[in-house]
Amino acid sequence: MGLPNKLSIMGTDYNVIYCDGVDVNPENDEDLLGYIDLVAKEIRVSQEQEDKEIWKCLWHEILHGVFYELDIKHRKTSEERLVNLISLAIRNILFDLGMLE
Ligand SMILES: [Zn+2]
Repeated sequence: MGLPNKLSIMGTDYNVIYCDGVDVNPENDEDLLGYIDLVAKEIRVSQEQEDKEIWKCLWHEILHGVFYELDIKHRKTSEERLVNLISLAIRNILFDLGMLE
């Protein structure tokens, strides 16, 4: 399965942009491998990591989008933890099924 350039999260279209470097959000000084702009409907992911890590990063940002589009409110820290765990689980399941290489 190739990396998507566009995807729909609960019916809302998001563009996916693969960036060079490890700071995908220019508005932030911290190194960031992935970022979702919920207003611009854009996901940015660093392509300077292995495909397996790119997928985990992508799922992480997609899940933030799912929480947002479904209006699921969590405290920032608990949402971050949930999103980390679920994105890892999804990525691993897809790899085990042979759907990702
Ligand atoms: Zn996050």
